[in-house]
Amino acid sequence: MAPMGDNVVVSNVNLEKLLSMKGGKGEGSYANNSQAQALHARSMLHLLEESLDGVHLNSPEVPFVVVDLGCSCSNNSIYIVDVIIKHMIKRYESSDRWDQPPEFTAFFSDLPSNDFNTLFQLLPPLANYNGGSSMEECLASNGHRSYFAAGVPGSFYRRLFPARSIDVFHSAFSLHWLSQMPETVLDRRSTAYNKGRVFIHGASESTASAYRKQFQTDLAAFLRARSIEMKRGGSMFLVCLGRTSVDPSDQGGAGLLFGTHFQDAWDDLVQEGLISSEKRDDFNIPVYAPSLQDFKEVVEADGSFTINKLEVFKGGSPLVVSRPDDATEVGRALANSCRSISGVLVDAHIGDKLSEELFLRVERRATSHAKELLEQLQFFHIVASLSLA
Ligand code: SAH
Repeated sequence: MAPMGDNVVVSNVNLEKLLSMKGGKGEGSYANNSQAQALHARSMLHLLEESLDGVHLNSPEVPFVVVDLGCSCSNNSIYIVDVIIKHMIKRYESSDRWDQPPEFTAFFSDLPSNDFNTLFQLLPPLANYNGGSSMEECLASNGHRSYFAAGVPGSFYRRLFPARSIDVFHSAFSLHWLSQMPETVLDRRSTAYNKGRVFIHGASESTASAYRKQFQTDLAAFLRARSIEMKRGGSMFLVCLGRTSVDPSDQGGAGLLFGTHFQDAWDDLVQEGLISSEKRDDFNIPVYAPSLQDFKEVVEADGSFTINKLEVFKGGSPLVVSRPDDATEVGRALANSCRSISGVLVDAHIGDKLSEELFLRVERRATSHAKELLEQLQFFHIVASLSLA
């Protein structure tokens, strides 16, 4: 594994070993900068519950297993797992076939560099749970969790669980992360080399198509692994960043986040002589917001899943601010949001000190464009509900 710290080229390190959202509970942490994801997830709960209504209810003698893939280290994952399990308990309670719910297991899964410690500390205590508890008992134990919890480190682009062992897979705001940067995008001799840019937004056609191909290869690997792990009658609910444009180099909200002020701040560092232009060009955000078509092609080619639902959903702004008129707060929110997501990769590429300089410039630039950021920054998500064909 490449060493961390100054002068590490993200291209050459194994992304899987490095990538994580900013851990801990500080100002730039994911735990403190994921309210937007929480709000977007809440606005889609009806779609999640619709997907759960299709799950087959197995005998309560066998544990019901829920997985959150790309759980990160905030309350969002814990909230969603709670929603899923409460919904399934209700379904068991009202079913004619079974008179009690099963025991529940929840696996929180992410890359090994994820701050699982912070996540585990956020977990509510386990309720006095003997299985077969009634709905009333479950409600009475509010503030507790009614499931056994475990963390599973590893990439969701590979196998993570035994065959036919999972009832419900959930994944939110994670699948737009590529498993790696396509090699051609980092190769100075290639037409796909992303010269002058740090993201696909506004890039050349060959850069954009390399990103697209990587996304589709990754999604195919993801589906292959899940199709083995999912129990028959199980279901999978996936949400990731998406775009409405056909053109992959127009990344919509993600483009505005990483293709404008963030990009300009990198250019500032070059112009001020703090880094070379090659250093900037070697950095790329390994994110791809697919179109509905990009996503659908892969699901259909894989063929293991029936599509119950596949749509583009308007998620809203990634900026959650208490005083929208305060440009400074808006600027800081954008910089913190960018940093909580990409800070770990930036730190590894240019070191902590220059990373600090970079995000200061992101904040300054965003502050002077606060009004248009609030008006224009909108995220769209791809929402998919799939079950085994
Ligand atoms: N689901 C959470 C967190 C989303 S942040 C929420 O709703 O708030 C995206 C997460 O995806 C990060 O924690 C990142 O580490 C994880 N991730 C990215 N690529 C991954 C991969 N290949 N395998 C597993 N997790 C991955």
